[in-house]
Amino acid sequence: MDYYSSHISKLIEEFSKLPGIGAKSASRMAFHVINMPVEQAESLATAIVEAKKNVRYCKKCCTLTDGELCPICQSAKRNQKTIMVVEQTRDLAAYERTGKFDGVYHVLHGAISPMLGIGPNDIRLKELMERLRDDVDEVIIATNSSVEGEATAVYISKLIKPTGIKVSRIASGVPVGGDLEYIDEITLLRALEGRTEL
Ligand code: ZN
Repeated sequence: MDYYSSHISKLIEEFSKLPGIGAKSASRMAFHVINMPVEQAESLATAIVEAKKNVRYCKKCCTLTDGELCPICQSAKRNQKTIMVVEQTRDLAAYERTGKFDGVYHVLHGAISPMLGIGPNDIRLKELMERLRDDVDEVIIATNSSVEGEATAVYISKLIKPTGIKVSRIASGVPVGGDLEYIDEITLLRALEGRTEL
């Protein structure tokens, strides 16, 4: 038997599909929405749909952005010859918050994981190799220090080595299994400064 109206049940069902949202939170969120002024509910719904419609991958670095190229790839102030490779757009944001990295990024959108069946072709690696045909001085691999992140770093360095472009790996000041997103800025900067050539 359905205790709620079918609309509320549907809303709870949709919220419970979100990461980290259990049945309890989903129903709390659904009732919160029901009690919102209609303008606020519309604004929430529009924000979701507009983000989904308009956010796309930067043609160059593959980060999530609104235009063809993200603001970092477009910026004349950034050193386009130093590319930092990260797993997610969230990691890029973490380094941007330090304000100390003046190069550009490449977002892989994942890491190689044989256990999960994620291979080199499932992440944005081909796009990175294409970028290396331009004038690039250094590729800094800043994937997470998880097993997958390390495996990805080794794989990428082996691909790049033959091109003669300098490849380095951020220092392991970043705790094992650590998600870059949650690491403080000082640790991130130390990891960047202490990077070693591969
Ligand atoms: Zn970009």
